[in-house]
Amino acid sequence: MARDNELRPLWLEPLLDNNFYEHDCICEVHNQYCTFFCKMCKNKPLCESCWRVDAEAEHELHQFLQIFKVSEKASVRKADIESEVDVRKIQPYVINNHKVILLKPKGGNGGNPKCVICEGKIKDEFYDYCSVSCKIIGDTRQLDKVELAGKYNRRKRTPCRSPLL
Ligand SMILES: [Zn+2]
Ligand SMILES: [Zn+2]
Ligand SMILES: [Zn+2]
Repeated sequence: MARDNELRPLWLEPLLDNNFYEHDCICEVHNQYCTFFCKMCKNKPLCESCWRVDAEAEHELHQFLQIFKVSEKASVRKADIESEVDVRKIQPYVINNHKVILLKPKGGNGGNPKCVICEGKIKDEFYDYCSVSCKIIGDTRQLDKVELAGKYNRRKRTPCRSPLL
C-alpha cells in the first residue's frame, strides 16, 4: 500500500523482513549472526566480519544499522532510527547504556501495561507499543481513521469563492 510507505523510510520494511538470530551468516565462513543492515542497499544483513570487508568496498558512504539482541529478539538503537521513525511510543530497553527498541513483538501476553496491538506485556505504561512492527500496525489503523474523517469533512465543506470575485 503506497500511502503507508510514504510515512516510512524505505529501508524499514526490508529490515523487518529479516529473521535475525535464526541462522549464521550466508558467507558460511564466519559463524556469526548477521547484525549489520545497509539502509541504502536494503539487502540481507551481513555479519560483522563481512561488514568490515564489504562496508568499504561495496557500501561506501552507506549507512548501516546495527542489530542488538534483547531477550532473544532483534532490536536497534533508538538513536539510530528516531530521526526517521517516530519511536516515542515504543517501549525502550537499555543494553550497554544504550536505549534500544525491539523490531518485532516480544510476546508474553497477560498483565498490564500491554501493547495496544499485540497485547504483549510492556514495562512502562507511558508506551503504547512493544515493538516497531506493532507501531506500524497502529499507524495504519490511525491513518484509516484520519482518512475517514477527511472524507467526512470534505463533504460538509461549502465551496469557497475567491475574495477577488
Ligand atoms: Zn559473514
Ligand atoms: Zn549498501
Ligand atoms: Zn506489540
